[in-house]
Amino acid sequence: MWSYTYEDYINVMKNKKLKITASRSAFLKAITSIESKHFTVNEIISKIKESEGHVNIMSVYNILEVLLNEHLLFANTFDGKNVSYEVITPRLVHVRCDYCGEIHHLDGDEIAVHEEWWNAFNELTRKYNVTLEHYKLEAHGICDNCSAKENIRTNYDVKYEQNN
Ligand SMILES: [Zn+2]
Ligand SMILES: [Zn+2]
Repeated sequence: MWSYTYEDYINVMKNKKLKITASRSAFLKAITSIESKHFTVNEIISKIKESEGHVNIMSVYNILEVLLNEHLLFANTFDGKNVSYEVITPRLVHVRCDYCGEIHHLDGDEIAVHEEWWNAFNELTRKYNVTLEHYKLEAHGICDNCSAKENIRTNYDVKYEQNN
């Protein structure tokens, strides 16, 4: 569905009349070729250094800001503190275990089969006169490994017990 490729970024940048300098191009190559779906600024910098041999830190922060302003990069704070970035994709679900912090990133066929999700969100956004362009969800829970540890009572178990 499917994360933006380098070519997608170049096309959309041209469409938005954004300059594609050598350092911007190196940045886009880096973010679309990093193995991990979620990455920090430092990881982007290392990746550029690795492929180009040098990196202009100022220009990294410059294009980072441009992409964030244009909604061409997602910024996540899974732990509430550290920002991790990722390449945009039209339909994205993160499944997170809140107890060990493990995150599954779903943006492929598992999501694409759920056309009804797209339709449901579009119906919702239309109520506010907004036409859906993309959705990005975080689903939180407890994984089987964590729930096998008997001392874990989930936050929602605790709330449920208090209310009953
Ligand atoms: Zn877990
Ligand atoms: Zn992700």
